[in-house]
Amino acid sequence: MIEILDLHKSFGSLEVLKGVDLSLEHGKVLVIIGPSGSGKTTLLRCFNLLEIPDQGSVSLADVKINFTDAKRIDQKSMLALRRKTGMVFQSYNLFPHMTALGNVMEGQITVQKRTKEEARKRALALLDKVGLADKADSYPHQLSGGQQQRVAIARAMAVEPEVLLFDEPTSALDPELVGEVLKVIKQLAREGMTMVIVTHEMKFAADVADRIILMDDGLILEQGSPQEVLEHPRNPRALQFLNRLN
Ligand code: ATP
Repeated sequence: MIEILDLHKSFGSLEVLKGVDLSLEHGKVLVIIGPSGSGKTTLLRCFNLLEIPDQGSVSLADVKINFTDAKRIDQKSMLALRRKTGMVFQSYNLFPHMTALGNVMEGQITVQKRTKEEARKRALALLDKVGLADKADSYPHQLSGGQQQRVAIARAMAVEPEVLLFDEPTSALDPELVGEVLKVIKQLAREGMTMVIVTHEMKFAADVADRIILMDDGLILEQGSPQEVLEHPRNPRALQFLNRLN
């Protein structure tokens, strides 16, 4: 359902992705780990074209875009691909002037053209799902970081994406708030939501991932089941990275 082939991305003279291939089936969870600066976030942002790859292709459900010939990239396909994704950022990125309910309604009204009443109904159901039914009328500044991140997850779900993308969803949180966010993500995984998650939380990665990829210097160093990658890495650099965390 997701396939990425020979993906390259540079910022100026810095080559950040050097030929990444990966695929992910519907309903599965892929976790991306690796040292700081290895290209994890850039790779994730290529899934929804917040970064435009220089070369290679990205396929998601029935949309396939080949970036190798820049002149032939079709704007309609780019929009279609973006609409199949929902993104949860490290720093929540909620609209500060809207309530939790307003945040979860917004994309449904502007992107999906739902009526206000439909959007409201769905937003309330999603806020309930992330344990925030009682916070619908609160503004972001009235919520804890963990609560804000759960609103951000509800907002990303509201447009019914094919895949949810998470960029280090707990790294801005105080340690005592990490658990409530991970619990929501684990619940979504049990329900069969397709997800790609960049994280530094190794225990969480081991718990939630169907597959882990370990990136290093713009390339995939290891990929496989959590057990294969975390417990039996074959590459000495992967072993070095994992040992540093223990
Ligand atoms: P971290 O774990 O620290 O978040 P990462 O593995 O997610 O790191 P990226 O954020 O993808 O790594 O960054 C990879 C490299 O690309 C870094 O050297 C970073 O400084 C650089 N980079 C990322 N985005 C840009 C940009 N918009 N312009 C220039 N350089 C960038």
